[in-house]
Amino acid sequence: MIEFIGINKFYGSLPALVDINAEVKKGEVVVVCGPSGSGKSTLIRTVNRLEEIQSGVLRFDGQNVHAKISSLAMNHLRSRIGFVFQSFNLFPHLSVLDNVMLSPVKVNGIKRSKAREIALQLLDRVGLSSKAQNYPAQLSGGQQQRVAIARALAMEPPAMLFDEPTSALDPEMVGEVLAVMRGLARDGMTMMCVTHEMNFARDVADRVWFMDAGRLLESASPSAFFGSPQHPRAQRFLSDLR
Ligand code: ADP
Ligand code: MG
Repeated sequence: MIEFIGINKFYGSLPALVDINAEVKKGEVVVVCGPSGSGKSTLIRTVNRLEEIQSGVLRFDGQNVHAKISSLAMNHLRSRIGFVFQSFNLFPHLSVLDNVMLSPVKVNGIKRSKAREIALQLLDRVGLSSKAQNYPAQLSGGQQQRVAIARALAMEPPAMLFDEPTSALDPEMVGEVLAVMRGLARDGMTMMCVTHEMNFARDVADRVWFMDAGRLLESASPSAFFGSPQHPRAQRFLSDLR
């Protein structure tokens, strides 16, 4: 579903991604971890081309993401990749329901009545049907992030990317967002998640990727990664967490 082949990216002279070779298979959940500044966000943002790369090939569902493509094709590609950020970025002037309906109606041209039906189902899936008519400011951070997930799902993306979706939340709200993500994983969604929630990685991930200084140093099953990390840098990262 997502293939990184020899990816290199620099910010000026700073190497942010160094020869990344990896893939996320259909239905797989990959958790990306590593110290702050190791390139996790940069990596995930190359997938829908929020960041450009200097060399390599990145394929999403067969499509060469960093080829020369029109802005229309770029928008189409982006609409097929669900992206959930640390900050929820909901539209404050739209109700929860309208936030979820917006892209299907505006981008995909789906009828409002149909979009509304789908949006209500998705809000039910994230446990927020009762908040459909509320505005984002009336919701807690955890609820807003669940709306953001429903909004991404409304475009029926073949894969979902998460960049620290729980990092901005008060601790008591982390669990409800992770529960929604667990549900998605259980339903077979292809997911790439940058997160510091190591229990989530242990329970939900098919593979854990460990990054440091722009390099993907380790890709392993959770039991291998947490049980016997191979790279000294990964060993140090894990022992610092304990
Ligand atoms: P992580 O998400 O693992 O914390 P990032 O991908 O955000 O790491 O950053 C990787 C490196 O690239 C860091 O050294 C960071 O300072 C640098 N970096 C990130 N974004 C930019 C940018 N827009 N311009 C210059 N340097 C950047
Ligand atoms: Mg980051």
